[in-house]
Amino acid sequence: MTQAQTKVKKPRGKARLLENKCIACGARCQSVCPVNAIDMNDAGEPVVLAEKCIGCVKCIKICPATALEMFYTAEELKILEQMSAAATSEEEFDEEADALARKLAAYRGVWVFVEQTGGTPARVSWELLGVGAQLAATLGVELCALVIGDGVEHICVEAFAHGAAKVYLLDAPVYGNYRTEAYLEACCHLIAKYRPEVILMGATGMGRDLAGAVATRVGTGLTADCTGLGIDAKRNLMQTRPAFGGNIMATIMCDKFRPQMATVRPNVMPMPERHEGATGVIVREGFTVPEESILTKVIEIIYDAGGKSHVDITGADFIVSGGRGMMGPENFAILQELAEELGGVVGASRSAVDAGWMPGDRQVGQTGKTVRPKIYIACGISGAIQHLVGMQDSDMVIAINRDRQAPIFEVATYGIVGDLFQVIPAITGRIRQLKQQRSGHQD
Ligand SMILES: Cc1cc2nc3c(=O)[nH]c(=O)nc-3n(C[C@H](O)[C@H](O)[C@H](O)COP(=O)(O)OP(=O)(O)OC[C@H]3O[C@@H](n4cnc5c(N)ncnc54)[C@H](O)[C@@H]3O)c2cc1C
Ligand code: SF4
Ligand code: SF4
Repeated sequence: MTQAQTKVKKPRGKARLLENKCIACGARCQSVCPVNAIDMNDAGEPVVLAEKCIGCVKCIKICPATALEMFYTAEELKILEQMSAAATSEEEFDEEADALARKLAAYRGVWVFVEQTGGTPARVSWELLGVGAQLAATLGVELCALVIGDGVEHICVEAFAHGAAKVYLLDAPVYGNYRTEAYLEACCHLIAKYRPEVILMGATGMGRDLAGAVATRVGTGLTADCTGLGIDAKRNLMQTRPAFGGNIMATIMCDKFRPQMATVRPNVMPMPERHEGATGVIVREGFTVPEESILTKVIEIIYDAGGKSHVDITGADFIVSGGRGMMGPENFAILQELAEELGGVVGASRSAVDAGWMPGDRQVGQTGKTVRPKIYIACGISGAIQHLVGMQDSDMVIAINRDRQAPIFEVATYGIVGDLFQVIPAITGRIRQLKQQRSGHQD
């Protein structure tokens, strides 16, 4: 282009809503808009203010229902066409872009690191195979699992049952107990040899430790605690996670390096269907690390038996959670009663935990646990975004709050506006009554 030529600005278009597609997910589109160009109507659907929209496409990327699209005027479309034609001829001479494209193209495949302790795989690994399958299908590549341990071949069968087409297996005594050095060397060896384009790990103690070490060693990007994963038109992994204290969702991409690495917390992704008897290819790798080169020695593993008060809320089907509206620790007894009737457990908001009313392992949310129960009952919880990200994927949410404007009602399947000190005992009493009636019928 000569200096005399005026540079035409690339049209960015405006976002617009597609008819009948919005599922009123809780205004995710509005929450990511950097210029407040989205209002929500009474039906919970967005109204895009075209005069404010800058065409950043953030709302389109975040929408779980692909309910938004970019709209260009006929004139803008014409400019885009001209630019694309010009770009095609320019690209022919863009050596840098060409070299980058060739570098990225050398990496193919989606890998999931299957975390195991003592031969027992972590559930999050199968959740990752579920989302990994979608990514692999979009990319048109294989979904592979990475199994490292000692005497862990049986895990390959489970990996196939949960969707893996291939398993890279490193089975040797040196990998018996997780140690960063050994697993790091093993992962880096496999990455150098097979070049995957995406690697997913659980955002657990082990996954966080290993992912950070691997990303640093291979010189690539890592996005921790993703809540959404997708693929863009250029095969980049779109990694969505809360940012700025959870007040906005950021979509992060690693467009110049491979592999693209992400961690995801347990219960964030749905569990894929298990296909009994599914088979695949096991690639046995003989690579080991000399024991004497590893500084860390595992003397004993002491499992957290947890004591009486320890409860794993992440695996519960029914959770009754209390917030600041509970007014004090003694009032959690009414939640415990309801939880016991349902066969569930008691959770809490961060405010309740910070106040010392409930232990930290009961906290639900961004800095607590992510849960996906069949029923989540939120009692006296306002519904701050940091709490919602930890429970909004529950099958059913029942919210009890005396403030009808409380944001928790935006994600609730059923909302009860009222005083929880009246509502909860009434629900518990009714459940007991129904149980008694049922047992009476059976006698
Ligand atoms: C970086 C960061 C991370 C965070 N991580 C988390 C997290 O992991 N989890 C989390 O929960 N929060 C987290 N928070 C805090 C979050 O922003 C909120 O402050 C917190 O969730 C509020 O807790 P709450 O809903 O219990 O309290 P409040 O917001 O005070 O709400 C109390 C609610 O109780 C209702 N209420 C009061 N009395 C009654 C009654 N008698 N009957 C019925 N309803 C009643 C009120 O109407 C109100 O809606 C985080 C914040 C930051 C900045
Ligand atoms: S495209 Fe960007 S600026 Fe426009 S409405 Fe969506 S998020 Fe807001
Ligand atoms: S993100 Fe999508 S589904 Fe959610 S409110 Fe916006 S348009 Fe509707």
